[in-house]
Amino acid sequence: MAPVLVVGAVLSCGHGPITVKSNAILTVAGQPVLLADDARSQAAFKCSLSTPCTAFGPFEGLSTVLTVRGQRVLLTTTTAKTLPNGSLIITAPGQTVLVAK
Ligand SMILES: [Zn+2]
Repeated sequence: MAPVLVVGAVLSCGHGPITVKSNAILTVAGQPVLLADDARSQAAFKCSLSTPCTAFGPFEGLSTVLTVRGQRVLLTTTTAKTLPNGSLIITAPGQTVLVAK
């Protein structure tokens, strides 16, 4: 079991912090959870570089049991590459209430 990531999560691409958006209907402590299909797009995941990472994924270590409208939820165990040359670093999930596997 691992904490579910929400919009308040502290994430980095290895170069700088990533700001995230989510419109998921599932929220934890008022913050939407992060979903894999959303996270693949730069519109949802955006790093702070002047030339930001252009893509995130493939994602591994996603929840195998918790989905929202068919999209798997990101956990603290999730890993991903970022393009062109980084990887997802999860410092904090943004909430401590909901865990999943
Ligand atoms: Zn980046």
